[in-house]
Amino acid sequence: MKCPKCLGTMEPVSFNEVEVDRCTKCYGLFFDHLEKETLRGMKGADILDIGDDFVGARLNEILDVPCPKCETKMQQVLHTDPFEIKFECCPSCKGVFFDAGEFRDYLDDEIYEEFGDIIDKL
Ligand SMILES: [Zn+2]
Ligand SMILES: [Zn+2]
Repeated sequence: MKCPKCLGTMEPVSFNEVEVDRCTKCYGLFFDHLEKETLRGMKGADILDIGDDFVGARLNEILDVPCPKCETKMQQVLHTDPFEIKFECCPSCKGVFFDAGEFRDYLDDEIYEEFGDIIDKL
């Protein structure tokens, strides 16, 4: 799979048996449908996002991106809770692409952290 932003190679990486794709060059992350929600409930999933925020912010300016999986033009989604992040969502396969640093912001949500604590205690 090729990175839709920098055309680098995307390689599968897994966390708690959830396999996602990460670019080996810009460290952008691609998630299949609902994988980001699954990971959001897991503690420590932010380790998947190892890229540089600065690189991510620069690549965030690229708006015209094809889905790395099915090549449909992706749409920008604005997520404002708790930080404002823009990520790309594929209208066809529902995959999402996060630039480096965006997934960490996406995860940084106290409600979900508390939810994670409850899961840990069960
Ligand atoms: Zn890339
Ligand atoms: Zn797609």
